[in-house]
Amino acid sequence: MTLKENLKQLQESLPPHVQLIAVSKTKPVADIQNLYEAGNLDFGENRVQELIEKQAVLPSDIRWHLIGNLQRNKVKYIAQFVHLIHSVESERLLKEINKQAKQNDRVISCLLQIRIAKEETKFGLEKEEAERILTTYKELYPHVKIVGLMGMATFTDDEDQIRNEFKELKSIYDSFKKHDESLEILSMGMSGDYKIAIEEGSTMIRVGSLIFGERTV
Ligand SMILES: *Cc1c(COP(=O)(O)O)cnc(C)c1O
Repeated sequence: MTLKENLKQLQESLPPHVQLIAVSKTKPVADIQNLYEAGNLDFGENRVQELIEKQAVLPSDIRWHLIGNLQRNKVKYIAQFVHLIHSVESERLLKEINKQAKQNDRVISCLLQIRIAKEETKFGLEKEEAERILTTYKELYPHVKIVGLMGMATFTDDEDQIRNEFKELKSIYDSFKKHDESLEILSMGMSGDYKIAIEEGSTMIRVGSLIFGERTV
């Protein structure tokens, strides 16, 4: 199947409240252009250098999502154009995003990444810390807007474990949402687990290999 067919098939299978982010990391600009022409405007990248190189040569109405670990000293390179940062995992990072957003006269939308996986390598905020940030950031950092949460499940074949981790994130999301109406995005689910994520309440999935094929680099 072609990329466009992969995209179309996936899109048609999704409930209307679930938004698809096509994760184009390591994939060539031509592939992104191809899917852009098929009507997909949302793309996710996890490396700043790669993101800025692609952004420079692709159509300006593409909505770029930063989905990976973001170093504070690199925020300045994407602050002018990034659409949504999915991976805010510290207040120090949020503070830097606020600073760079202000310099660009913008308000940058962000998701707080919550640690739900049991793996040491996965990162993210604990619930208590996320709650503290959510209840205090608005006065401190007016150039950021926290619009939801993101999480990654453990990399495992154990579907029950994946489901339980997504359930946990959904329950944290629901409890925060009661006090903050700006929270409208729950970013969870990738190629291998997006169906479970949607069953457990995801509103945004980040899918790479299922659309673009396996990554070889
Ligand atoms: C790479 C990546 C994805 C997409 O992974 P696939 O398994 O290729 O769908 C989603 N989210 C994050 C944070 C990623 O780094």
